[in-house]
Amino acid sequence: MTFNDLKLKPEILKALSKENYSAPTPIQEQAIPVVLSGRDLFGCAQTGTGKTAAFALPIIQLLSDQQRSSSRQRRIRSLILTPTRELAIQIFDNFKVYGQYIDLRCSVIVGGVSQKAQERELEHGADILIATPGRLIDLINQRLVDLQYVQILVLDEADRMLDMGFIHDVKKIIAKMPGKKQTLFFSATMPPEIAKLVKALLVNPAKVEI
Ligand code: AMP
Repeated sequence: MTFNDLKLKPEILKALSKENYSAPTPIQEQAIPVVLSGRDLFGCAQTGTGKTAAFALPIIQLLSDQQRSSSRQRRIRSLILTPTRELAIQIFDNFKVYGQYIDLRCSVIVGGVSQKAQERELEHGADILIATPGRLIDLINQRLVDLQYVQILVLDEADRMLDMGFIHDVKKIIAKMPGKKQTLFFSATMPPEIAKLVKALLVNPAKVEI
């Protein structure tokens, strides 16, 4: 299978060939059509499998297919929650590479750095926000982030977010978003607490395991 078979648009294919990605990985083959179809997804996959592109490529495609009036402020239409700042920055870098020929703005919000710079960044508006839960909650509480236009939510490494004690923050963040949205849930393991969360958050999900 090729990326072309996955019906990705030419601007995305161009970025992938520039990065020398010759073919999709197994998780990309399975997940990309599901995400493009608008369905919820439960993905059981570790880092290193190409999991990031499995959600980033179809999110870029879905958002770029929507009209955005140039006069209107950008709104966060996709939120990616991930447990650590290193992962958040990696995901952000990947989105920038895959979306380099597409007019979408991506921002990253992580703890451990000055909030002021992140506030300024948010003032410019973003279509896609990648965040760790703790700092995002702070910004939501200060009304500096508006999640009411989120259409696609990604929970990346959900089991690690649970282990790190982020579950309450994650639930609070989800409560700030519309109920009707597409949710993509990734976890390498499936402890009972994760199974409960999957059941509560996902509607008729496709399961992808590798
Ligand atoms: P991830 O599992 O998302 O952390 O990705 C692991 C690494 O594989 C990253 O460095 C990606 O840039 C790279 N990668 C992801 N998908 C592909 C692909 N289809 N072909 C080649 N490299 C890839």
